[in-house]
Amino acid sequence: MVVAQQELLEYLWLGREEGYTALEHEVIFRDLCCGCGNCEAVCPEDVVRVDEFPRLIGECTDCGYCLMQCPRSFFNADEVEEKLFGEVVEDELGFVRKRIGVRSLDKGIAKAAQDGGFVTALLSYALEKGVIDGAVVGGVREDKPWYPEARLVTSPEELIPTAGTRYSNSPNLAVLKHVVELDLKRLAIVGVPCQIEAARKLQFYPIEELDLSGRIALTISIFCSSNFLYELMTELVQKSYGVKLEDVKKVDIKGKHFLVYTDEGKLEIPLKEAYRYRREPCKVCTDFTGRLADFAVGSVGSPPGYTSVLARSEAAVKLLDEMLAAGLFETVELKEEKGLEIARKLQLRKEKNAKKEIRRRIRPLLPPPYRNMKF
Ligand SMILES: Cc1cc2nc3c(=O)[nH]c(=O)nc-3n(C[C@H](O)[C@H](O)[C@H](O)COP(=O)(O)OP(=O)(O)OC[C@H]3O[C@@H](n4cnc5c(N)ncnc54)[C@H](O)[C@@H]3O)c2cc1C
Ligand code: SF4
Ligand code: SF4
Ligand code: SF4
Repeated sequence: MVVAQQELLEYLWLGREEGYTALEHEVIFRDLCCGCGNCEAVCPEDVVRVDEFPRLIGECTDCGYCLMQCPRSFFNADEVEEKLFGEVVEDELGFVRKRIGVRSLDKGIAKAAQDGGFVTALLSYALEKGVIDGAVVGGVREDKPWYPEARLVTSPEELIPTAGTRYSNSPNLAVLKHVVELDLKRLAIVGVPCQIEAARKLQFYPIEELDLSGRIALTISIFCSSNFLYELMTELVQKSYGVKLEDVKKVDIKGKHFLVYTDEGKLEIPLKEAYRYRREPCKVCTDFTGRLADFAVGSVGSPPGYTSVLARSEAAVKLLDEMLAAGLFETVELKEEKGLEIARKLQLRKEKNAKKEIRRRIRPLLPPPYRNMKF
């Protein structure tokens, strides 16, 4: 391994010296924590909780696991991509074997889903056929409207309440802490691209005692330009625009607007207002589609009501072909013009903005001649 061996030893030492404090200093206080939930999943003392961000709720015994399995401590995405797909392609969409736009023909799924319902239909099919025995997804807390909550589901019936998009952090990977006890052996992981990196961190830089790496069978990334603090809902939607969160049926981002749907109709909030609640760690994120996932899916690229599906791995193509043959979807071709070209632009914009933000963050650390240099 090119980077990992040296860095692995450094982080191993740091984690064992300082425990959770090292995770705070290396990741959380540096505004790098993407909220994936890995640190909660791997803590043997079960003293980490991740909601929007992690916090320590008990006594840390300095094992260092949280730092070692955090995707924001050390991680070589190119190396992982090469191991998964044999190469690191130049294409902005990453390595793709098959692409298609789909809409689920299941009425229940179509009603609950964000776009074409591919994610929910795929999980439902994979659970029914025994391809997976559990799925790591995001749901909503019962006592707090629109507040995400990680969920571990083991039957298709549990999926409908998890469908749809919440635009604040859902620490999906945290529920992996239950899978050994439940003896789940073939899991699907749904998440935004950083959460897929978290899943790959567990697989490609494993701590054997945790016994998690071999249990991840399928990864599904949902496209992501950015995520937001829950205040987006409480401060902007509820306080500033006077919409009760209990009345909100769906939220979405389309073009330059954050859309809030209620029985009264559709409220269009300028996206720049929503961006005031953007999560700081998202500003340094470079992956829009989820280059390391088996499937990458989003709304961009296909007509309204459809999910754009990029199948990257052989396993993903096999599953997709089976589902298409079973007649589960209406399909459309994914065109470049006014379709995938938008996803490419979003990828390039994300990379450019992240590089700018990284430069902005490190600039004050440099001595004045460099700090003031134009680049
Ligand atoms: C924060 C965020 C930003 C996004 N930005 C874009 C974008 O810029 N462009 C684009 O094309 N698509 C974006 N998407 C993806 C899009 O909203 C849909 O999730 C995707 O098109 C799949 O639709 P579907 O109908 O197939 O999914 P569904 O069948 O509705 O399933 C959605 C799945 O997403 C999971 N989920 C919901 N909210 C979250 C969350 N906050 N974190 C992790 N998992 C969650 C659910 O558990 C469910 O399994 C974003 C999604 C999120 C969560
Ligand atoms: S990125 Fe994930 S593992 Fe790292 S601190 Fe944040 S929630 Fe924990
Ligand atoms: S005990 Fe938990 S919080 Fe402490 S270092 Fe280990 S994993 Fe981290
Ligand atoms: S922008 Fe990046 S870090 Fe933020 S939620 Fe999306 S994938 Fe994760």
